[in-house]
Amino acid sequence: MKAREKKQGGERQAKEPKQLKQLKLVPLGGLNEIGKNITVLEYLDDIIIIDCGMAFPDDEMYGIDIVLPDFTYLIKNKSKIRGIVLTHGHEDHIGAIPYLLKELNLPVYGTRLTLGLVENKLKEHGIKGNLKTIKAGETFKLGPFEIEAVRATHSIADALCLAIDSPVGKIFHTGDFKLDYTPVDGEPMDFQRLAEIGRSGVLLMLADSTNAERRGYTQSEKVVGQIIENIFRASTTRIIIASFSSNVHRIQRIIDTAVMFGRKVAVSGRSMINVLNLAMELGYVTMPAGTLVDVNSIKKIPDKDLVIITTGSQGEPMSALSRMANNDHKAVQIKKGDVVILSSSPIPGNERTISNVVNKLFEKGADVIYSDIADIHVSGHASAEELKLMQMLIKPKYFMPVHGEYRHLRQHAMIAENLGMSPDNIFILENGQALNLSKNRVNVSREEIPAAPVFVDGLGVGDVGNIVLRDRRLLSESGLIIVVASIDGATGEVVAGPDIISRGFVYVRENEDLIESARAVTVRRMARCKKEGVKDWNAMKNAIREELRNYIYSETRRSPVILPIFMEV
Ligand SMILES: [Zn+2]
Ligand SMILES: [Zn+2]
Repeated sequence: MKAREKKQGGERQAKEPKQLKQLKLVPLGGLNEIGKNITVLEYLDDIIIIDCGMAFPDDEMYGIDIVLPDFTYLIKNKSKIRGIVLTHGHEDHIGAIPYLLKELNLPVYGTRLTLGLVENKLKEHGIKGNLKTIKAGETFKLGPFEIEAVRATHSIADALCLAIDSPVGKIFHTGDFKLDYTPVDGEPMDFQRLAEIGRSGVLLMLADSTNAERRGYTQSEKVVGQIIENIFRASTTRIIIASFSSNVHRIQRIIDTAVMFGRKVAVSGRSMINVLNLAMELGYVTMPAGTLVDVNSIKKIPDKDLVIITTGSQGEPMSALSRMANNDHKAVQIKKGDVVILSSSPIPGNERTISNVVNKLFEKGADVIYSDIADIHVSGHASAEELKLMQMLIKPKYFMPVHGEYRHLRQHAMIAENLGMSPDNIFILENGQALNLSKNRVNVSREEIPAAPVFVDGLGVGDVGNIVLRDRRLLSESGLIIVVASIDGATGEVVAGPDIISRGFVYVRENEDLIESARAVTVRRMARCKKEGVKDWNAMKNAIREELRNYIYSETRRSPVILPIFMEV
């Protein structure tokens, strides 16, 4: 019976020539940007989603908290989706999951640490997820996709590459990786397995391009550990270390070093405490009993016996380290002689805030160690030589650089070209562009899938668009002028006003003449409107806006937002 059903199913499909037996791959995010990584794989009636990340807003996105991928395509095809498969637990790979799960109830597959981080996130949003743990080395099936989880080394534990067998061939997704031969947990990548996967034939590889511009090799995390150890050895005072909370390997190394030198460990910063608790619960971070002390009782411990691990390595204004630097931390006051280590390198755009924190710490007498003066951070992403090795191991027929700005994708493509791959076989796509793959052909589809950034502002998701952002930019550049007048509804006579109120334009008390002239211009324009018989309020507002804009610009060379408000009395 079952066989017959299957056969009928097969016949039905054969009669529908529209549904081509192609694999469609759609990057909904992660291209021409570092952030919101998400890739859709679709074969006939089945879809899997690889990663579901968020991005941080850039300087132009005033007031935006985070940026999400556009889920329109997924919502439209929800009945096809078999699940989300995660490569690792960084925000740019898991940060958008709560927002997608609010729309669609989907199972989420990931390693233990990754899912632990996802679970924390879901709790904050009040969502109960359907989380399914996978392990490196395992293979599992979702619809027609057979997915092998392959261990990857990266700046977070429990990261994966994915080798996905599909009806048209094998897709290999590196996830974020570097080739760390001496990772802190002693579990390097399985190079033999990578070579076997390559030998079995890979149709398409998608690979991390973040550091494609960097020559040579990215250093092992071990190097950072040795430098931290040297700092500990040379220090006789309190040590405060800021790091990314998700880099549990580095935190383990800091704790090991503290134990080695007989220091107790206190932890500050919400995300650091959350991630450390989770990592200890899951066994990713271990330490002898009695090592951890409450940050509120550190006064009892001599400075030379204490390490404080904290958030804020990017100078984030609300972070624990920033609060320490600003004398605003309840438990930790920076004092002369403290050794403060910022164990990260600046994410582009954060240089200014980091510099502020470093300056303030120095002013308070601390001895500050940061990436400009010591190698206290290594990247989690592969440099050019590692990318070459990955190409040689996987030997894909087609290649699509991912996870990078355009220049990173381009550099990565050139690496592949230099290794002999034909430029015709390399695809640099844009978000929302689809790739159609069949057994021996790959081409870029003409279909355009919605993939514009979706902004989250407070509780609003997607309600702030480009027009609102443009207004925010204009307001931030030249401020606002409001023209208020009360008008008699029956006669059209101005009863009160016009008054001019401004914010962020000029300081009114020092520019009374300008404001008074602007008022006079408005009065004249209103009178002219009346003479011309303009009754429509919108037309009147436009006329005033235009007149005032010209006047203000001629006087000040500024273009504030002008907002006429009429009240009917
Ligand atoms: Zn990552
Ligand atoms: Zn990433």
